[in-house]
Amino acid sequence: MANSALKKVLITGAAGFLGSHLCDRFIAEGYHVIGMDNLITGDLKNIEHLFPLEHFEFYHHDVTKFVHIPGKLDYILHFASPASPIDYLKIPIETLKVGSMGTLNCLGLAKEKNATILVASTSEVYGDPLVHPQNEDYYGNVSPVGPRGVYDEAKRFMESITMAYHRFHGLDTRIARIFNTYGSRMRLNDGRVVPAFMGQALRGENLTVFGDGTQTRSFCYIDDQVEGIYRLLMSDYSDPINIGNPDETTINEFAREILELTGKDQKIVYKPLPKDDPLQRQPDITRAKEILGWEPKVERKEGLKKVYEYFRSLSPEELRQKEH
Ligand code: NAD
Ligand code: UDP
Repeated sequence: MANSALKKVLITGAAGFLGSHLCDRFIAEGYHVIGMDNLITGDLKNIEHLFPLEHFEFYHHDVTKFVHIPGKLDYILHFASPASPIDYLKIPIETLKVGSMGTLNCLGLAKEKNATILVASTSEVYGDPLVHPQNEDYYGNVSPVGPRGVYDEAKRFMESITMAYHRFHGLDTRIARIFNTYGSRMRLNDGRVVPAFMGQALRGENLTVFGDGTQTRSFCYIDDQVEGIYRLLMSDYSDPINIGNPDETTINEFAREILELTGKDQKIVYKPLPKDDPLQRQPDITRAKEILGWEPKVERKEGLKKVYEYFRSLSPEELRQKEH
């Protein structure tokens, strides 16, 4: 029986990487958590430990279809969306739909329930940035018709419609611009660089660096990301806010760090750079520091060690499943 005194939160994309960690956090904070997912890129294994809990419910549902939740709802975290380039290039229409129609459904639900809604935007709204580091006032450099446009423009629309609901309906909204985040539960072959390199190291394969490896990224450990999102939701700040770790590295350097961490002697091999792959990315987190009193705590070396230990702790069967 649901305890009606508990605050109730709906988390879309609950079976995915970020969504599942958010479910854990809100359960730990004493919320009643409703997870929703259509499992297009997610995995029920990420949340199966929550199924026996009284205060966790799961809806196997596509958020682009009408969303109905009975009773009260205090918060919505809209995290449903493919997030890795190979996923969203494989399912571009679904990606556009979940960022647009899925967001619209969540906003409509938030309005009906008078709930606060936080949407998961991305550093990709800055595209291949001409400003470095990126602060929230930068409008971005995105090709609407390039292959990555299906993700970037869906997220830009998401931000736009979220602000429209805020301004026009007075809805309580939050926009998190999330920068590259890594941690346990990522799929080994989702194509993102952290699981890609870890998987290659574990299988004894060479590490595949795309392009000449001089492009940069700034990687944020999952616990820091979840803390930033939690603080943003609890704030009253409705403009977009960057949540990421400003510690920037080239992909070459990153590959060398992975080899050092894993103690493997594989080689680094070079493959073509995917089209529109941003050359540099680093969040300016001044706003997050000032408004949320937040900054990341986990250094890359420490975070990567934890993730490597996580992947190493999986049985051969679990590892195979992580490669689906
Ligand atoms: P993920 O692929 O692990 O999780 C996404 C989840 O959404 C999956 O479980 C998937 O099945 C679900 N989903 C997709 N479409 C759906 C739909 N129509 N209805 C219901 N569920 C649906 O990805 P992630 O890394 O956990 O990313 C989660 C969110 O955070 C995404 O919105 C992504 O754009 C955003 N984000 C992530 C990062 C990152 O570094 N991980 C960076 C920027 C933004
Ligand atoms: N990348 C790479 N080898 C891989 C996977 C990715 O060199 O096996 C590069 C990719 O081209 C990009 C960076 O690593 O420059 C980060 O890629 P990811 O997909 O993790 O994130 P995004 O490009 O969305 O920031």
